[in-house]
Amino acid sequence: ATMPPLLSAIANAGRHGVLVKSAVVMEQLGQVDAVALDKTGTLTEGTPYVTDIRPLVSSGLSEAELLRLAAAAEHPSEHPLARAIVDAARIRGLDIPPAQDFASTPGAGVSARVQGRTVAVGSPARLLDHHTGHPAIAVAAGLEEDGRTAVLVALHGTPVGVLGIADRLREEAAATVTALTELTGTAPVLVTGDNPRAAARLAEEVGITDVRAGLLPQDKVTAVQELEQAGRKVLVVGDGVNDAPALAAAHTGIAMGRAGSDLALETADAVVVRDELATIPTVVALSRRARRLVV
Ligand code: ADP
Ligand code: MG
Repeated sequence: ATMPPLLSAIANAGRHGVLVKSAVVMEQLGQVDAVALDKTGTLTEGTPYVTDIRPLVSSGLSEAELLRLAAAAEHPSEHPLARAIVDAARIRGLDIPPAQDFASTPGAGVSARVQGRTVAVGSPARLLDHHTGHPAIAVAAGLEEDGRTAVLVALHGTPVGVLGIADRLREEAAATVTALTELTGTAPVLVTGDNPRAAARLAEEVGITDVRAGLLPQDKVTAVQELEQAGRKVLVVGDGVNDAPALAAAHTGIAMGRAGSDLALETADAVVVRDELATIPTVVALSRRARRLVV
């Protein structure tokens, strides 16, 4: 028998390395007319690495001590930034002490008790909320000007240092943004929890002008809802736990599979298994072709 068009489109998407979870999803993909892209792990490769280790003079910590504390607190986390920090400690041969009472806040950071000390690691904007004028702010801002993601380390609530982290843009990021712009008639929106400075730099490189930075998971949902209330059918592409609510709220959600969190993979309607961003416009086009054959 000949396969129905939507089923052969699913098989075809599979050959391109995209797992589309149902025929309904295969059909919905072709209706999309707006796209919201996550930054870290989606437009970037998602294998970030530590570039700077800056203990504050006031902390009395060495670079190795700062990194070791941060790595201990981040060890239980599956966030790409956490893996970068743990890897940096391992590469330097540091032993990573065990952590207790680990807690993570998506879009903000983690905290844990390490050798009796409370360590917090995360977004300077969130952790420095009540520390106006703190020297750590200038250190973080300097790193962000260079396009880094700055991560603050605090001991018992007091900032003790900043780590700078860099991530490579995916080779196919700009071409994918162009293809999605052509398919939908509007350029994708960048929705990221990262800082506005790093977000703006990356957006410029790929041809995105609408940048929403410093977003918590719920803010990503709000951004999607605003577009949908304006009559758009939004495709969200993301990889993190922080993207899961937006993936669920969107008309269609696609997760990046290789570095993606389990929650994002389960929540999304489709998964990019082969880790090629350029397959996203391809499956939208496949859906449109199949829909023309169905109706
Ligand atoms: P994105 O939306 O770009 O994928 P996230 O929402 O996952 O980024 O993270 C946003 C910001 O929250 C990060 O730039 C970082 O400052 C902070 N953050 C989140 N999780 C962690 C973590 N495990 N360790 C350190 N910082 C984190
Ligand atoms: Mg992400």
